[in-house]
This record gives sequence, C-alpha cells and structure tokens, in this order.
Amino acid sequence: MDYIEVVDRYVQLRVEEFIAPVVWRSGGNLFELVVAVVLSQNTSDKNAFKAFNSLKRALGSITPEAVAKLAEEELAALIKPAGMYRIRARALKALAEAFLKHGITPQRLLEMGAERARAFLMSLPGVGKKTADVVLVNIGLPAFPVDTHITRIARRWGIGRSYDEISRWFMDRLPPARYLEFHLKLIQFGRDVCRARSPRCGVCPIGERCPSFKSAGRSPVI
Ligand code: SF4
Repeated sequence: MDYIEVVDRYVQLRVEEFIAPVVWRSGGNLFELVVAVVLSQNTSDKNAFKAFNSLKRALGSITPEAVAKLAEEELAALIKPAGMYRIRARALKALAEAFLKHGITPQRLLEMGAERARAFLMSLPGVGKKTADVVLVNIGLPAFPVDTHITRIARRWGIGRSYDEISRWFMDRLPPARYLEFHLKLIQFGRDVCRARSPRCGVCPIGERCPSFKSAGRSPVI
C-alpha cells in the first residue's frame, strides 16, 4: 500500500493557504521567509498571515535592519494576531541581530548545502529543526519538515514516531524536487481529513487499509 501515492492523487494542493511558500514565491527576502515561519509556529497559518501582513504594512519590506530598529513592544503589538506575541517579538529581535551579524543570504545557504545550512540555521536564536527545515525546503534545499499534522499522520500510519524517523521516511521515498509540495499536501490532508480530534476515516482515501482506521464513533490511535 503506497500511502504517498494515494495522498498525492487525492489532495488538490491549496498552496495559497501556506504562509512560507506564499511569502517566498511572492518575492519575499530570506529574512521575511524566516519571520513568516517564526510567526506560524504553534498557531494557524491564518493568524500568521494576519501578523505578517500587519508587520509588512508597517515596515514595507521586513528587513533585519527595520526589525532591529523597532522597539520590542512596538514589534509585539504589530504581530499580536499570531499570539505569544511578546515571546515572538523577542525571538524576532534576536534573529534580526543574528542576520545583521552573519550577513545571511539565500545564496550563502545554498552554497553551504542542506546539512551545513541546517546546522547554521539551528544555531540562530529561536530556530529549531522544523523552522530550519521549512526555510531550507522553501529555498530549494532538500529537507522534509515534520509538523504536528505530519507527526500525527505518520504515527497513525505506523511509519515512525520521532521527527528524524518521519522526515527520513518521506525523504527516502520521494524525489527531492517534490519534498516541499508533498510536505504541504500532507499538512492539508491532516487539516481536512486525518484531523487530530475527529479524523474522517469514513471519507479517507486510505480508509480500511490504514492501520489506525476506525469506523465512525471511535478515535484512531495517535
Ligand atoms: S483512515 Fe483515518 S487514521 Fe488513517 S489516514 Fe485516514 S483519516 Fe487518518
């Protein structure tokens, strides 16, 4: 049973719902991409879009220089729609300083290659594995970020439990050029069908072939 093939055929990707590719593909700079990813941590893309657009309206272009100049309270007020805005404002200020200090550019990351670029991004304040991988895969380096939806789906499919295990499972089975698209499709599948609380096993294209399939009224294993 090829879960990848089934989900790939079933999901019609609505890329406009995902903040990172929208920001990057609309000509955003690398810092804007990182800001977008930080704003979408632990909240919906909808809220992240609101916070990002509010910051963009205030600054024009979101650059490390502009964010470094903003007072932390001012920044927090602008990104309030994303929630946890004080913590995020502090993280963004630290990231702006790090960008200014290291002169980080997409070209530099591409030249480093995925492994070194990932280690470098993870050395920046507030950047964990997932944030680093989202940045990498959006700029075209091979990475497969694993978010909460993908973790849940992978566990229900029984293909792995840890971030690294799950990420590797998909990377081993997909061509690198498809990592980003399939990562987004899986998240959309998790939002629409294999939902956290009430998975729609009855309409799922994997259905009874899934080890966690449960008929109506029973929750699958997480
Ligand atoms: S059958 Fe249910 S648990 Fe399995 S992938 Fe589909 S929705 Fe998720």
